[in-house]
Amino acid sequence: MFIADTHSDTLHALGVEKKPLDSLMINPDKLRAGHVSMQTFALWTGSRGNRGDVDGIVRGELEARHFFTDAGIPQVDDPEDAPEDKCSFMLSVEGGEVFEKGIETVEYYRSLGVRMAALLWNNENSIGFPAKGGSKEGLTDYGVQVVREMQRVGMAVDTSHLNEQGFWDIFLKTNRVPLASHSCCSALCPHFRNLTDEQLRLLIREKGYVGINFYPYFLSKDGHATLETVAEHIDYVCQMGGEEIVGFGSDFDGIECAPEGLEGADKVPALMDALRRRGFPEKVLAGIAGENLRGYFRRMKQ
Ligand SMILES: [Zn+2]
Repeated sequence: MFIADTHSDTLHALGVEKKPLDSLMINPDKLRAGHVSMQTFALWTGSRGNRGDVDGIVRGELEARHFFTDAGIPQVDDPEDAPEDKCSFMLSVEGGEVFEKGIETVEYYRSLGVRMAALLWNNENSIGFPAKGGSKEGLTDYGVQVVREMQRVGMAVDTSHLNEQGFWDIFLKTNRVPLASHSCCSALCPHFRNLTDEQLRLLIREKGYVGINFYPYFLSKDGHATLETVAEHIDYVCQMGGEEIVGFGSDFDGIECAPEGLEGADKVPALMDALRRRGFPEKVLAGIAGENLRGYFRRMKQ
């Protein structure tokens, strides 16, 4: 089965925070133990990127890829290029600060293999406004330009961390449906980082994608989460009609705690079992595990 995850901060933990590989939620051994076919690694520029050395941070993160390539886990450019029985990784960006120097930076990051980019992290930048803080402002003019350029070069627009008006603006002012790489359902846990039913309905109707985040505080109001809680969020999207657009967006190594039984990439099979116990047919399970993400990227090329 092709298993994919659309978000982790592992390269930041390794390349910038200099954490030891074996202390992480994701490392080569855990990816293999979890039968993960394609892990997405974010180049995270976050709040420090906004004020500081974006290029230096990204350099450290890119350099940290060697922990995986040396272990025989190669970088791929597209989910279609990742074989299901091996382990690969794909790059994303988290924080549009990397695009602030000029529109040509979008194509540059695409040339590095970046296939999706979250426009914002938790701070405002020259593209738009974060969900955090509740701003009602939409994307800036430059933000709209960046989104259109991303769509032109084949980079998926990631709305996780983006505020609602920015989310609507992508649908209103640009041509391609975005994804949300690591967000959960507001109806089950009303957190500003989660998607409202209205947002989910639009993603389902337009065939976008949502990777369900494993962070306990996005999954449950009291911050207590188990494998079942993650399965509930996935099930919720399915019940809305989204069984072809939902999957995993772990946020591993960007979160300080994890659901019981899902402490790292090696525990992904336990999550599959939890979904199986809910009675999902194998075809739907295969979609959730990774085929839905492949479908999203296939539609992007049309
Ligand atoms: Zn994030």
